[in-house]
Amino acid sequence: MDHEEMLKKIQEHQTLSRRDALKMMALSPITASVLAGGTPISLAASGSEATGKIVIVGGGAGALMVLARLRQALSKPDITIIAPNDKHVYQPGQVFVAAGEYSPEDIIFDNTGYIGQDATWIKDEATVFDPDNNKIITKRGTVVAYDYLIVATGVQYHYEQIAGLSADMIGKYGISSVYLNDLARGTADGAAITHEWFKAVHEAAKTSKPRVICTQPSSPIKCGGSPQKILYLSDDFLKRDKLTADFIFASAGEKLFALPEIDAALNKVQEGYGNITNKFGHELIAIDAQNKVATFLHKYEVQGEYDAEFKEYERVEKEEEVSLKYDFIHITPPMQAVDAIVNSSLAWQKGTAKGWLEVDRETLQHRRYPNVFGIGDVCGIPMGKTGGSTRHQGPIVVGNLVSIMKKQEPMLKFDGYTVCPLKTSYGKIIMAEFNYDGLAPSFPLDCTQPRRIWWAFDLYMLQPMYRYSMLNGLM
Ligand SMILES: Cc1cc2nc3c(=O)[nH]c(=O)nc-3n(C[C@H](O)[C@H](O)[C@H](O)COP(=O)(O)OP(=O)(O)OC[C@H]3O[C@@H](n4cnc5c(N)ncnc54)[C@H](O)[C@@H]3O)c2cc1C
Repeated sequence: MDHEEMLKKIQEHQTLSRRDALKMMALSPITASVLAGGTPISLAASGSEATGKIVIVGGGAGALMVLARLRQALSKPDITIIAPNDKHVYQPGQVFVAAGEYSPEDIIFDNTGYIGQDATWIKDEATVFDPDNNKIITKRGTVVAYDYLIVATGVQYHYEQIAGLSADMIGKYGISSVYLNDLARGTADGAAITHEWFKAVHEAAKTSKPRVICTQPSSPIKCGGSPQKILYLSDDFLKRDKLTADFIFASAGEKLFALPEIDAALNKVQEGYGNITNKFGHELIAIDAQNKVATFLHKYEVQGEYDAEFKEYERVEKEEEVSLKYDFIHITPPMQAVDAIVNSSLAWQKGTAKGWLEVDRETLQHRRYPNVFGIGDVCGIPMGKTGGSTRHQGPIVVGNLVSIMKKQEPMLKFDGYTVCPLKTSYGKIIMAEFNYDGLAPSFPLDCTQPRRIWWAFDLYMLQPMYRYSMLNGLM
């Protein structure tokens, strides 16, 4: 697709003016320059003479990106990649498939071109990480030794932690989950299932006022805004045809968004809908699919005894089980690092990040094994779990790895950048960009406003930017 075609496609979008479309095109000249060909761009080797055997584990956004960047950074790269997947899922697009804006094929592409002939590709999964001996054992028993390791294994879903639920029930009994994917097989069934779910809710709303619950667990999740994206898009899917339902957002958290500015903006969005009830402190713990009952552990605080010394009331933590009937439920599963990491000494052994990869939040170097780095969702750092974070981490990881290969200190620092394109309705997005210090918008626009330009940018530009530019280490 060339620049003109892209502009035409953007203009076809009913809600976008030509002015906005042109403005949006101007935001990303790099996209146009890398859109010329339909295949991944191969990069000439250049740069440092540093040597050593590097093993990358994972075949997703972070892994492919560091692979491309290492090719640029090293003149004689010796890279092995352990990844099971021939196919790559563009996971941010799963929400657009759910909304009916993309087809499932738009978000799956071939991994082979990215991995290329110059890397040794072990099509398998790492099951044992043995950092004391610098080796990995795969599912099929291959032992892989390394000098330097980059872990990019992402997250693992735990639908089974919700009693009565298993992943194969998604798509039945009014249950959906946009997250459902199998990255080892390169599939993302939850996306299309959720579009069918949108249509089923719509159909039911023609004759009744169904109750729809959207859940969010207490664990870290990838793209923390996606549970709300589904909430607002499914509500708007009805609203567009003057239909309605009772929506409940049942979240284990205490507010809509961690940053107060974005939290306030989302509360305003909800006021506009007028049919959403928030149930905070509600963790989904069980499903009775036959009877359509969801059970939550509700944690809350009440006022306790008055403390005369401190001149204040004590706060007493309480919890109770709450069961809610529903007609439709969208479930965001609890998430954790993949088992191979959780069970290894590479993971944090205690604290809130227990089980996630123990890397320094700025250098992304392992805190106990200096020849190990992490990128992407697997990292046990306070921010991230977005492709946006991963994109910003790529140059840091590669730059710092090359430094230690040259026996120098890792100097580059990740600032915690992350981005959440919150789809507040069809055609509008709040582009929440922030880092360890707070809001960090890339463009001089009030980032608390839902904007059409961000919808078009996300829908039409981000997928090709990701596919042709980011995965090729060009941005
Ligand atoms: C529904 C949804 C919506 C999202 N929306 C957005 C968005 O709008 N914006 C945004 O920036 N991000 C979004 N994200 C998040 C984004 O997709 C991830 O943050 C990003 O893909 C992280 O990259 P990663 O490399 O860490 O993990 P992944 O891309 O998930 O890749 C992990 C890889 O590791 C492989 N793997 C796992 N275990 C092993 C093993 N033991 N051995 C070898 N390989 C293994 C997997 O097969 C996979 O290839 C969304 C994600 C989802 C699911």
